[in-house]
Amino acid sequence: MKIIAVNAGSSSLKFQLFEMPSEEVITKGLVERIGSNKAVFTIEVDGEKVVTKTPIKDHKVAVSMLFEALSKHKIIKDLEEIKGVGHRVVQGGEKFLESTLITDEVVEEVRKLNPLAPLHNPANIIGIESFRKALPNVKQVAVFDTTFHTTMPRENFMYATPYEWYEKYGVRKYGFHGTSHQYVSERAIELLGREESKIIVLHLGNGASLSAVLNGKSIDTTMGLTPLEGIPMGTRSGNIDPAILGLVQQEENLSLTELLEVLNKKSGYLGVSGKYTDNRDIVAEMNNGCDRCKLALDIQIKRIVDYIGSYYVLMGGLDALVFTAGIGENSWEVRELICNKLEVLGVKLSEKKNKTRGLEEINCCESKVKVYAIKTDEEVMIAREVLRVK
Ligand code: ADP
Repeated sequence: MKIIAVNAGSSSLKFQLFEMPSEEVITKGLVERIGSNKAVFTIEVDGEKVVTKTPIKDHKVAVSMLFEALSKHKIIKDLEEIKGVGHRVVQGGEKFLESTLITDEVVEEVRKLNPLAPLHNPANIIGIESFRKALPNVKQVAVFDTTFHTTMPRENFMYATPYEWYEKYGVRKYGFHGTSHQYVSERAIELLGREESKIIVLHLGNGASLSAVLNGKSIDTTMGLTPLEGIPMGTRSGNIDPAILGLVQQEENLSLTELLEVLNKKSGYLGVSGKYTDNRDIVAEMNNGCDRCKLALDIQIKRIVDYIGSYYVLMGGLDALVFTAGIGENSWEVRELICNKLEVLGVKLSEKKNKTRGLEEINCCESKVKVYAIKTDEEVMIAREVLRVK
């Protein structure tokens, strides 16, 4: 049975086609710059990327191009072979406690959550609507980034702001990257050989978040109402004193929208270094003597370690530390810088294993805490959910 996992952004559409339940990836690809004359459609055929540059008016057109490409390249014979579509939806609020079969009512409920995720949910809905039009009789499932974190206790998800903001507007911490946190923590539980466990997941990509996973359930995470909260990232500031906004607003005569744009798109590695958003550039330039690159990384690592200390206390110990996503999976330097600060917790990284690509367990034998580098796979989780949800 063939299932597509879809991740729709405002001008992009990522897809991955699986044979299920074997989880074999049949093809994957990406449509970028939807809505422009210079859109790019990329699909993998027999392991090779086939790239088409053409105007693509909207997501509906992108979806028909995808189906045309699937038949043209003989990846599928007939659209009838596709038995399910799974959609990543960023914000499920307090309404969606698990992945959900998509109906008209579900689309309306997701739409009601748009004010909580104005940059993401409207695009997710466009993706859902395009696939529902193209495949009206096929099962479609929404898989939410927030679901895994719905097990947080209230003192961990509430802000100490007026309670009415929570009641009226849903102001609370929701957390994101849930599908990834769930996938790698489940793998860590397999490696540990027991469900009863205290795990900290470090999802370190352009966007980055940590979670405290107790006995398989998320009890805290660093991102909040939006993905801006938590640790500094490629272009996001993470936590700051909100009063900074008042000061800079006055000094630079910026609107709140403009200030939030700076915190989302011009801060983090980019803001501190003044130049780079990519971790590889930050590390390379730091090694070339760029002091502000070193500072950008030092700040991020300090904040990551702060959260690890706090989650250690929250869970009353730690069995495993799990690194994942672009930086977590690939940067031995970042893993080493973090683990070197955690010796007090009994973390001992093996220098050699940490530099061995593809190895999951990278701690020394005598380490009290397991350290894993686990490749995340949000798409396969989405495909599994399409199978599971009735
Ligand atoms: P997102 O999905 O949030 O866009 P990713 O998980 O793709 O982010 O991670 C992107 C980050 O991963 C970038 O900062 C990039 O530098 C880093 N990264 C990707 N590949 C490598 C690598 N081989 N070595 C070091 N860092 C890497």
